[in-house]
Amino acid sequence: MNSEQLWETTLSELELQISRANFLTWLKNSRLLEKKDGGEVLIGLANNFAKEWVENKYHKMIFEILKNHDDSVKKIEYTVVGSKISFSEKNFSENKERQPTLPEFKVDPETGLHPRYVLNSFVVGSSNELAYAASLAVVKNVGSKYNPLFIYGGTGLGKTHLIQAIGNEIKKIYKNKVKVKYVHCEKFVNEVVSGIRNKRMEDIKDRYRSIDVLIIDDIQFIGGKERSEEEFFHTFNVLHENNKQIIISSDRPPASLPTLHERLRSRFEGGMAADITYPDFETRMAIIKTKLAEIKGDLPDNICQIIASRVQRNIREIEGILNKILFYGETKRIGLDSKTVEEIIDNTIKRVDKKVTPNQIIGAVANFFEVLPEDISNHSRRKKVIEPRQISIFLLREILGMSYPDIGEKIGKRDHTTAIHSYEKILRETNKNQPLNQKIALIKELIYENQ
Ligand code: ADP
Ligand code: MG
Repeated sequence: MNSEQLWETTLSELELQISRANFLTWLKNSRLLEKKDGGEVLIGLANNFAKEWVENKYHKMIFEILKNHDDSVKKIEYTVVGSKISFSEKNFSENKERQPTLPEFKVDPETGLHPRYVLNSFVVGSSNELAYAASLAVVKNVGSKYNPLFIYGGTGLGKTHLIQAIGNEIKKIYKNKVKVKYVHCEKFVNEVVSGIRNKRMEDIKDRYRSIDVLIIDDIQFIGGKERSEEEFFHTFNVLHENNKQIIISSDRPPASLPTLHERLRSRFEGGMAADITYPDFETRMAIIKTKLAEIKGDLPDNICQIIASRVQRNIREIEGILNKILFYGETKRIGLDSKTVEEIIDNTIKRVDKKVTPNQIIGAVANFFEVLPEDISNHSRRKKVIEPRQISIFLLREILGMSYPDIGEKIGKRDHTTAIHSYEKILRETNKNQPLNQKIALIKELIYENQ
């Protein structure tokens, strides 16, 4: 049996032992990368989550199955290889043609910036021209014109691209004279949390305070995390007082950040706030053409028009669909007709449009913890359903915004105070409990993936 067959066999046996959803979530795109002479086997997994999860939960099973088929196996190592090909497209990968993916660049460890996000490749239209103009003004007048610059708008509309592009542009012009730092808010929060735990807060403070241009992405994540907010507030003030530039993105305007402390909100409002809205048809066409040029792909105009008219609310989705269509065209080697394109679009965006139901949330949590959904929504007091139930309550509230009485009703006709208590407990813990955050992120993947 060669490595590939060995892994195929192992997967098919694993598939019988764990739930289908878990199998698809954790093991799709997994590969046996290498088998060394000493009996060490290297397994590649799609992402860090999958690596953690598989290592902790399925390692024993995998080891046993592998050993069963090949008794020279002594040890398994796991690594992250990323996922370019989704499970359903796996059979296409037999054809080892070039895949239309973006060129690989690395994030600059010093600035945290991704070189792919540049102003040059940012298409400007009526949906983002104000944000774009403000960004240019910041590049020309670092720290002195719009400070802070606050860019807000929905998912996949180009916030990260734009704020990173400002950073890259400043870096290009001022070289090493200016210290630029991009950080996602979640990472900032994690740093503060571990800084407190390890008593290294001073180091973190020094690091942030020596920056000339601080770019913080998705600031809405800081809301309600008091200690991080406090730290950020102080850092913000120090930088601001010294005319250092601060650039922030958020999914909503400062006034609508509900859990944010008033003082921080008014600081944000003190600079320039610009929104990015949904791109119009022309902008979407221009974006499609730009992306095609970037990945050296080519599609007839009528196909571009279908995509531009169907995918209206998320540019990341446009990119995903473009990749799929190009991939399809290359692997199938048949002419692309509009019907196929429509089908690909349907399959991709349906998932996003469909609304999540309470049962789907409970189902995903149950699936994740390998308990029965009924156990979560009945009166069972067994210990192993306590955490799943609390997380279900949390997600019902967070994703669907359900009222506490409705949640109580759904979770075994419990009193609404139980729902409040559980929600708040999990919310508090997400501030400091990294494994819990990871579990929640994984469950969300399950919810959206299996719709
Ligand atoms: P957000 O941060 O708002 O969720 P991103 O900045 O991650 O969105 O954008 C999603 C994808 O769409 C990125 O790959 C980005 O390059 C692309 N994109 C968004 N807006 C534009 C634009 N105006 N021009 C070119 N590409 C864009
Ligand atoms: Mg973003």
